[in-house]
Amino acid sequence: MDAAHMGGDLEKVLITEEEIQRRLEELAAEIWAEYEGKDVLLVGVLKGAVMVIADLMRALPGTAPMDWMAVSSYGSGTKSSGVVRILKDLDTDITGRHVLIVEDIVDSGLTLSWIRSNLESRSPASVEICTLLRKPEAAKVDIDVRWVGFDIPNEFVVGYGLDYDEQYRNLRDVGTLAAHVYS
Ligand code: 5GP
Repeated sequence: MDAAHMGGDLEKVLITEEEIQRRLEELAAEIWAEYEGKDVLLVGVLKGAVMVIADLMRALPGTAPMDWMAVSSYGSGTKSSGVVRILKDLDTDITGRHVLIVEDIVDSGLTLSWIRSNLESRSPASVEICTLLRKPEAAKVDIDVRWVGFDIPNEFVVGYGLDYDEQYRNLRDVGTLAAHVYS
């Protein structure tokens, strides 16, 4: 779905599809410089990271496996609850492996910080984080994110995997919604 297909639901595009792809290629090169020759596992967090991980891994100049976790943190609203529950765990044993968590967005950081310590407790060789988007003004916990695509303002965004009530994940760009959508 293009921005033009959003009708009046879109307030504005913040990051275009082209900007996202260019940035992911840069990140993929940096990530490969770190992990080439190492046993790395990409861990995606469902469902928001679906697009990011698909495009990021295709931009890598070599092969790497992926696995998925699903956690609940938001429900259908727009505010972080800080309550994290594993809905789907990894299929893979990460003992001794390098883990790269690939996220769509770091908002308060609460979810990711919880996921990171959960994975660190499983004796991996390392755990690093790559996120497409980060909202620095919304940070509630200090979390070390090694690779960040874009820092964005503290606004609720949709598109490129990010939803509002399960809608708009298939928007190619990242944008904000018009006020009438929330009412
Ligand atoms: P955090 O725990 O960092 O506050 O947020 C974790 C999750 O909340 C993200 O993985 C994402 O699913 C959701 N989230 C945070 N900010 C946004 C946003 O602006 N738009 C959407 N669609 N989801 C968000």
